[in-house]
Amino acid sequence: MQRIYLDHNATTRPHPAVIDEMVACLKDSFGNPSSIHAFGQDARRVLDRARQRVADLLGAEPEEVVFTSGGTEADNQAILAAARGLSSRGRHVVTSAVEHQAVLHPCRHLEELGHRVTYVPVDRDGLVAPEAVAAALQGDTVLVSLMLANNDVGTLQPVAEVAALARARGILVHSDAVQALGKVPVDVRALGVDLLSISAHKLQGPKGAGALFVRRGVTLPALLHGGHHERNRRAGTENVPAIAGFGRACALAREELSARSDRARRLRDRLEQGILGAVPLASRNGGGEGRLPNTSNLSFEGLDAETLLLNLDLLGVAVSTGAACSSESKRPSHVLMAMGRSAEEARSSLRFSVGEENDEGQIDRAIDAVKQVIDSLGPCTR
Ligand code: PLP
Repeated sequence: MQRIYLDHNATTRPHPAVIDEMVACLKDSFGNPSSIHAFGQDARRVLDRARQRVADLLGAEPEEVVFTSGGTEADNQAILAAARGLSSRGRHVVTSAVEHQAVLHPCRHLEELGHRVTYVPVDRDGLVAPEAVAAALQGDTVLVSLMLANNDVGTLQPVAEVAALARARGILVHSDAVQALGKVPVDVRALGVDLLSISAHKLQGPKGAGALFVRRGVTLPALLHGGHHERNRRAGTENVPAIAGFGRACALAREELSARSDRARRLRDRLEQGILGAVPLASRNGGGEGRLPNTSNLSFEGLDAETLLLNLDLLGVAVSTGAACSSESKRPSHVLMAMGRSAEEARSSLRFSVGEENDEGQIDRAIDAVKQVIDSLGPCTR
């Protein structure tokens, strides 16, 4: 049985060129990039090249890229370090109700430390209104954090508009672009953000590497303390092989972005229309055009999503009930709940996220598998 992977928002298969780059680095450039001898300088060159490639994909300068262990660390640094660094100016943070846990949990931690956080609500498509963000700003707001693309439903947020109104009031702006990178254009200047988080494993890079864009002129305290790595912004010997792979993944994404996104949209639409056409119980969660090209979140009225997922897995089709990080908690998706769905509706929802390894034949087989599972479950499970 050929397995069909439709969970690319959880993670992606590393691109063969990424693997080659990483293996070459492990074999030939094992030095510590902070060492001044030739071995170290060789690893430093690998790091510099990767930094340039990541910066090029973001429209940033290489010095504005701080390598981290992934998206979670980048989000934590953006939120916790910014709030700490700015606490003499104010202790209020604004974010949205549909952020990833990597943003929501640091925000909760800030609340435990005595900061105030406003969670701006969203509409039925998962969209934040810039006016609602404007209304949430207070005299002592120091940070606004709004994700660029939602991981569960794919909704693209109006980050550029929100950044303009926040920065006009001298407020720092962060965006979690972990799901957006490699799927839609991400240009830090066009967005007007001060801080932006990304992660390698969402765009055919390896796990364990990510980055925080820190706009030149913004002073952000470190979260990890130790050596002087990353210009004193993140201590710890860099994960050079993973970062090399990350750089390669970014270079590939830059070359292929529009072709990849057109292809993903075609496959996603075929899948979505195929399921919605064949399964009367199915309905879509989240916006039409204003969402990631690869993501489709569907509710199956009266059915338990986990049962669907497990049965699809038996047929070799891998999908998700939501963010991989929250799949161990049985709670319904906070994103769908914030979008006004009931807990029952949220518990009947599956996320399909297509990617580079899928083709039309796989999509058609996945549609058949969904039909087969729903037919086999029968009315007693509804
Ligand atoms: N932010 C978003 C929107 C995500 O989807 C994820 C991962 O699912 C993260 C942050 C965390 O990234 P990482 O897995 O690299 O820690």
